[in-house]
Amino acid sequence: MRYTTHNASPLGCFRLRHSDSAMHAITAPSTSRSRLRMRTSITLLSAMLLAMLALAGFTFQLLKNQRHLLEQTLRESQSQTVALLASRIEQALIGAMRPPFLGLKNIPIDRVEANRLQQIAKTYPEVREIILLGNDMRIRHSFPLATTPEQIALTHWMADRAALEHTKTKDSNALWRVFAEQIDGQLAIFAIQRVNELDHDEGWILMHFDASVMFARYIDPMLQEFNHKQPGTITLAGPDSPWDDDALNWPVNRALPGWTLVFKANPALQAENLRRDQTLVLMITTAVIITLMITTFAVWRELMREHALVNLRNRFIANVSHELKTPLALIRMFAETLYLRRLADPDKQHEYHRTILRESERLSDMIDNVLNFSRQTRQTPLYQLNDIDLATTVGGVIADYRYRLDDMGLALHINCDNSLPAVAHDRGGIRQILLNLLDNAIKFGQQGGRIEIGLHTKDDTVELSVSDYGPGIPVSERDRLRQPFERGHSLPPDSGSGLGLAVVDQIAQAHNANFLLEHAAGNQGLRATVIFPVKQPTSP
Ligand code: ADP
Repeated sequence: MRYTTHNASPLGCFRLRHSDSAMHAITAPSTSRSRLRMRTSITLLSAMLLAMLALAGFTFQLLKNQRHLLEQTLRESQSQTVALLASRIEQALIGAMRPPFLGLKNIPIDRVEANRLQQIAKTYPEVREIILLGNDMRIRHSFPLATTPEQIALTHWMADRAALEHTKTKDSNALWRVFAEQIDGQLAIFAIQRVNELDHDEGWILMHFDASVMFARYIDPMLQEFNHKQPGTITLAGPDSPWDDDALNWPVNRALPGWTLVFKANPALQAENLRRDQTLVLMITTAVIITLMITTFAVWRELMREHALVNLRNRFIANVSHELKTPLALIRMFAETLYLRRLADPDKQHEYHRTILRESERLSDMIDNVLNFSRQTRQTPLYQLNDIDLATTVGGVIADYRYRLDDMGLALHINCDNSLPAVAHDRGGIRQILLNLLDNAIKFGQQGGRIEIGLHTKDDTVELSVSDYGPGIPVSERDRLRQPFERGHSLPPDSGSGLGLAVVDQIAQAHNANFLLEHAAGNQGLRATVIFPVKQPTSP
């Protein structure tokens, strides 16, 4: 074995002046700030719960009334669509009836030639007949010319019907009138217009339109398009059609007096649509509630973490104060005794000096732990990794520590490989690891029992381990106890800061090493091992 002993006085590492800054560093995140955060989180949580309750209540109410509500909304929207379609139909029909009149506008009836009437009828296939009437509503011209007695009778009937329509309105100045009639089971649409809008003595133009041609050209495509989109059937119903209260009825008087546009919803399709809408509302609400639940859970978890942290901090402050007080009280008591020269026996004096030394070192180690931890959490780079011999570093620490073990009558067994590969490490860091692990081994190992330190090469790593044969740490507790401020459940409430293993873990990470807790030999006690990666030799 090759261990070198450090000559430097063990008192050299006693740096009490750190204590103030260390405590400050740990307690810095003030409790009041945490409390404020907690209060904010609780308010947020309550608000979310309230929002969730409100949403659930609203959805419940909505689903209860939804059918009626959706039906009403659907009916309203369908009613608007039917009204719109009715107005489009009126516009289309009137728009189709107006142009044939333009060719005859302002031409005195007596001067209209048969050719012109023929030309108009040819241009507009929906025009079946054109009749020119005098101001007295008597026929002056008609196209095509009625030859058979039936045709003559029909033409006269049309003129009479136009006259009737004209008088029916009681507005002899009206420029434009439309009426519809069934002729031989076929719908005929008629429009009359003054020849001259300014000179009311010029007479009238009467046109007979073939409704089937107009419907096929303008109306049927619109109805088909509507039927395609709406769940039901839409039809144009004449004045003789039976009235249906369940259907939506909209008049198209401007183009077809007495006629209505009728929409009869298909209950099966309607129900299907309603179900789809209901499912959509349900899906959206469920998604919102799930999102709210997840957020609430996240906030709740955060709150619990915050709460646990505040508890840990408070416990830590109490524990550290207690831990610091014990060695300080001892140092003070023994120093006082020596100072007052109450001890004559030189052996006793030596023993007291030794106790002061041991306790001050303990104090120093504890403060170093706190300092290391606080610096690490602030991510200040702490360690300088140098390619120095790890065995020499370990040997130095053991030499410093040995008398403490001797004092306690503990047997330290060192097991080290003869030649170790280079491990980049920081001396201070390794010292802290060893002191923490040895302290635990003394505290928790068997009274007067065996403590082993191992330093071995394994594959591409070097393992530094400290083993004791005390109660060990159950597997289920190993992860928790490596966390800062965590301590064994069976310990008295104010013993230990719970930082030792956490600091070892941090230092190991700074060395790119792994920290492992397992049973020692024979499945007993605890072996705490730090596994360092070996520095790979650089190729020439
Ligand atoms: P402390 O600095 O308070 O000892 P540590 O982080 O070093 O805190 O240890 C945390 C806990 O782990 C201790 O409270 C103890 O329960 C347990 N522990 C640590 N080392 C050992 C060991 N060698 N044997 C048994 N339990 C141990």
